[in-house]
Amino acid sequence: MKTLLKKALYQFKSYPIPSSYNLQLGYIFHTEMVFNDKMFKDLLHFCSEFKAITGTQPICTVMSGVSPKVADGMRQHKCEDKKLADRYHELGGFATLGYHGHFYLNPALFKRKEAEIRSNNFSKQNLKEQFTRDLEWFSSHNLPHNGLYAAGWWFMNQHLLAMLIEAGFAYDFSFSKHIHFRNQFSHKLMLENELRAGEPFEITIPGQGSIKEIQNLTGSPSTPHFQDFTRNLLHILDPSQPRVTGVINSHDYDLDLKNTLLLFRNLEKLSNVSFFDANQLLDKRLNLSYKPVSLSSTLFEGPSLT
Ligand SMILES: [Zn+2]
Repeated sequence: MKTLLKKALYQFKSYPIPSSYNLQLGYIFHTEMVFNDKMFKDLLHFCSEFKAITGTQPICTVMSGVSPKVADGMRQHKCEDKKLADRYHELGGFATLGYHGHFYLNPALFKRKEAEIRSNNFSKQNLKEQFTRDLEWFSSHNLPHNGLYAAGWWFMNQHLLAMLIEAGFAYDFSFSKHIHFRNQFSHKLMLENELRAGEPFEITIPGQGSIKEIQNLTGSPSTPHFQDFTRNLLHILDPSQPRVTGVINSHDYDLDLKNTLLLFRNLEKLSNVSFFDANQLLDKRLNLSYKPVSLSSTLFEGPSLT
C-alpha cells in the first residue's frame, strides 16, 4: 500500500536533483558483523557490484575483535580472532578499510543502553583505553585503518578528535547535516562554523594538528524508489554550496543490497553525479578545498573529566 501511494506521489512530484548541483559521492560502511557468514558474503558481493557500477570502491570502516559487541558476536558465531582478521584482509581487496569506533562507559555492561557513549555521557579515560585497545588489535593483525574513521553512534567530541589527530588519522566521516547522523557536538560545530551540506572542512586543534572532514550526507535506501533518496538529500542541500562532496552510509547488517545497488545504477546515469573513493582522497587526486575550522582551547578546559 505504501509503495502504491509513493508511486502515485512521485508521479506528481518527482524531486529531481537540480542540474545546478554537482555531486561527488562515496559509500561508507559501518562494518560490524563480518563474523556472520551471510553478511560477509553479501558485503563482498555488494562491494564488487558497486565497483562495477561506479568504478570506485566503498570504504569499510571496521570494528576491532576486542570491541565487546563484536567479541560477543564472534563467540556466538564461533568466529576466532584470526578468522575475523582474515576476513578483514579479504575485504581489503574489495574496499578501503578504516576504523569504526564504539565506546562504552563500562565495556562489561555493553548490552545496557546507558553504557553506550553517544553524546555527553563520556569519560576521557574510557575513550582512551578502548581507542588504544582497538588500534592495538588492528596493528597486531597487521590490518591498516588507512587513517580513515567513522564514529559509532555518531559519537564525536573534541577529545575524540584530539585522539584521532594524535594517532595520525587523516579523514573522518562523522559529521552530517542530516538529523539522524549527528550528536550535539558535531551539530553545534557545524552550525557555529556555518558549514553547509557536502562542504569539506578541516578541523585544526592548535598546537596538535588537523583532520579532514568529508560529510556523511544520508543513509542508503531500503526502498526501490529513487525519489526516496533525492527527497531526503534535497532536505539538506544548500543552493549556496552547489559542489556537494560526501558519503552515503549503511551498516553491513542493515544493507539493502538490491535497492542500494539500484540507487547507484540510477545515480550513475546522471550527468551531474560522479563517484570517488578513499584512494582518491588519500593520494589527493580529488582536488577539494577544505574550509578551515579551529577548535578553541577553551573546549579542553573546565572540570577534569577522567
Ligand atoms: Zn556502528
